[in-house]
Amino acid sequence: MYKTTGFKRAFVVVLLAALIVAAGSVLYWRQVTRRLSADARASIAELSRESAAHFNRLISAQLQVLTALAVSLETPDALASQNKLISYLNRQNKRNSFDLTGFQYKNGLAVFSNGASVRDFLSSQDVAFAYEHSHFISALRKDPFDGKPVLVLAIPLRAEGKKLGVVFATQPAQFYAEALKTNLLGKNGFEFIVSSKGEIVLSSSEAPYANVFDVASKSRFDAGTSALRLRRDLEEGRDGLTGYEFEGCHRFASYYPLAYNGWHALSVLPTASVADKAQTLMWMSLALCLSIIGVLGLLLAFILRMQYKNSRALYRLGFVDPLTGKDNLNAFRFHFAEAAAALKEHGAECALAVVNVNRFKAVNDIYGFELGDQVLKQVASSLQEGLAEKELFCRCGADVFLLLLQCPRREALGKRVEALAERAGRFCRAGKECLPMSLTCGIYVLDEDVPFYIMMDRANLALASAKRSAGRSCAFYDESHLRQIVTEKRIESSMEQALENGDFKLYLQPKCRFKTGLIQSAEALVRWKHPSQGLIPPDWFIPVFEKNGFVLKLDMFMLKETLALLKRWKEESRRLIPVGVNFSRLHLADADFVQTLSEEADRFGVDHSLLEVELTESVVFGNEERMKQVIDQLHGRGFSVAMDDFGSGYSSLNVLKNLCFDCVKLDKEFLARGEGNPRMRQIISGAVKMIKSLGSRVVAEGVETREQAEFLHSIGCDLAQGYLFSRPLPVEDFERRLGDETPE
Ligand code: C2E
Ligand code: CA
Ligand code: CA
Repeated sequence: MYKTTGFKRAFVVVLLAALIVAAGSVLYWRQVTRRLSADARASIAELSRESAAHFNRLISAQLQVLTALAVSLETPDALASQNKLISYLNRQNKRNSFDLTGFQYKNGLAVFSNGASVRDFLSSQDVAFAYEHSHFISALRKDPFDGKPVLVLAIPLRAEGKKLGVVFATQPAQFYAEALKTNLLGKNGFEFIVSSKGEIVLSSSEAPYANVFDVASKSRFDAGTSALRLRRDLEEGRDGLTGYEFEGCHRFASYYPLAYNGWHALSVLPTASVADKAQTLMWMSLALCLSIIGVLGLLLAFILRMQYKNSRALYRLGFVDPLTGKDNLNAFRFHFAEAAAALKEHGAECALAVVNVNRFKAVNDIYGFELGDQVLKQVASSLQEGLAEKELFCRCGADVFLLLLQCPRREALGKRVEALAERAGRFCRAGKECLPMSLTCGIYVLDEDVPFYIMMDRANLALASAKRSAGRSCAFYDESHLRQIVTEKRIESSMEQALENGDFKLYLQPKCRFKTGLIQSAEALVRWKHPSQGLIPPDWFIPVFEKNGFVLKLDMFMLKETLALLKRWKEESRRLIPVGVNFSRLHLADADFVQTLSEEADRFGVDHSLLEVELTESVVFGNEERMKQVIDQLHGRGFSVAMDDFGSGYSSLNVLKNLCFDCVKLDKEFLARGEGNPRMRQIISGAVKMIKSLGSRVVAEGVETREQAEFLHSIGCDLAQGYLFSRPLPVEDFERRLGDETPE
């Protein structure tokens, strides 16, 4: 459940992140492209301007060199001898960077520094241009000697106002082209020098076409520019920037006028190279984004994993029973309403069942906690396996389990739960014998819309009733249980008054010798003589008083009644026998308990040895230290101490070893289990032997038959307390019986 929602959420987050990144990337890409294209336009404009300036400087420098040469030839005899002129030019040529230098006489004869002469190397128009503009720069032309493309520069020479001719120099086109090569354009760009007619004069690399207007006429220009505009700009010496598409490739072109010949520097750059840059940048950014998302994703996955682990740990803590690994009460309650509704949908009723392992404490005490845990695990598994779909199960206490079951008919459900309990109670150790175990269940059929805790109470009441009625392992809650609550309330409301009115009566039950049946001692037992309800047995009200604490008062009342009786017997010089008085475990919390007992006994002047304090075995469990202390204190004051109800589930023989009871009273249920069960008889016999070996007397309770008495006597029990010898008797009846006896 946690896993899927966690991963769904993570998936949505990652998807959203991816969408945001994708949208961001598109925006980023558009922005970058726009920006780069603007940058490219600006830088290409700058480039043509730079090229123009550079070219201007180059030409100007070349012209200056040529002018200096011309000035040196202005002397009257410099031109007189052709041979002298050639050798002078040859010398000069070695000092400058020109390829060849020369002089063309007015008559059209041109002599070269290499000694050659050519007629009309420069046309008359060229010469006229030179005179008119003080310089001349040719378009690209072939070198007359080696045929390579060259530019020719010329400076007119005058002497005393007379035109003498022109000094000229040739320079390979390559020389200028080198200057046009710029890194800025990369290998995709071109740099040209073009004439006003669009002819390409010079080119940074081999020009793919001769005239830019040819290209312009075949191109599609961007909005706001046109081939015509380019042509006009070049013709009229204006700078400009344009974009056009030629042969499927879009380019930016920028042109800037030169100072010479009406030429322009023209830079051309394919837009694709800008897009390439943008794309490279884009991919890099995308890679960065993706790696960030990757890292974030990993982080998210890590956080989610931790969260999942934590929530599972929390879930286990809150909803899983650590012992059995199955649902606990929280989980049961969490799913209860939904499951009940689902079960009811099929038209049948639902029932809540509480299942309890009988005498589980004894299993723990006798066989150890490890085996106890195994028993619980097996019971849990077995109960859970018996469930149908939608039915619920949990362990809600040490040895208490809850079930939500479908209930088509009561009898059928009762049988089913009994069978479930029967199977779950069969615990067999590997290779060893099966433990005698049983489960009891209380069932509440959900017939009323009441809170969960009331349903639990009702199922528990049914459980208590099943426990009370021997032989039943399963009971349904009914109105009588509710009546029982009402009775309890009534008991509670009238107990104080009853104590004041003296409605609690002291009864005595003899503890007798097996052989002779003669009374050795007695146990004081309370009876409530209710004005309207008659005699109420202590099993009805003692548990209620244990719950509300009134038992403390009642025990003290019974103590005083017993002491008063012993005092009277002493005064009347009757036979004195020890009397056992029951004390609830609640007294152990009172630090002055023994002190009070002692004071009361002294107040009545009763010998301490006549009083036996009966403490039920459940007190011992978990209270060993305090118990030891109390026993020592009681012994210190001369009282004797009996462990009551031994074998009813809580006691362990180990505990007995550490605690010095004067007497151990075997529980009547413990003995009842020995009926027709040889193995149990062996256990009882072993227990008696051990108790005796520890120096305690053994009193058998609930002896009802002669056979029981014979058996108990044969295994070494000292005294018998049971209906076989006498029921608990009112004081007068007891006194009569005691008086009738002839002492041993
Ligand atoms: P307990 O201390 O184990 O007392 C023995 C109980 O066994 C008595 O029940 C007695 O009537 C019953 N009993 C004796 N012999 C036989 C027999 O042969 N067969 C059967 N079936 N029962 C026999 P009772 O008097 O109903 O008392 C029940 C329990 O109430 C006592 O069990 C004791 O735990 C408690 N109780 C009685 N009086 C007092 C009291 O004054 N103070 C306290 N704290 N608890 C008391
Ligand atoms: Ca008792
Ligand atoms: Ca008892």
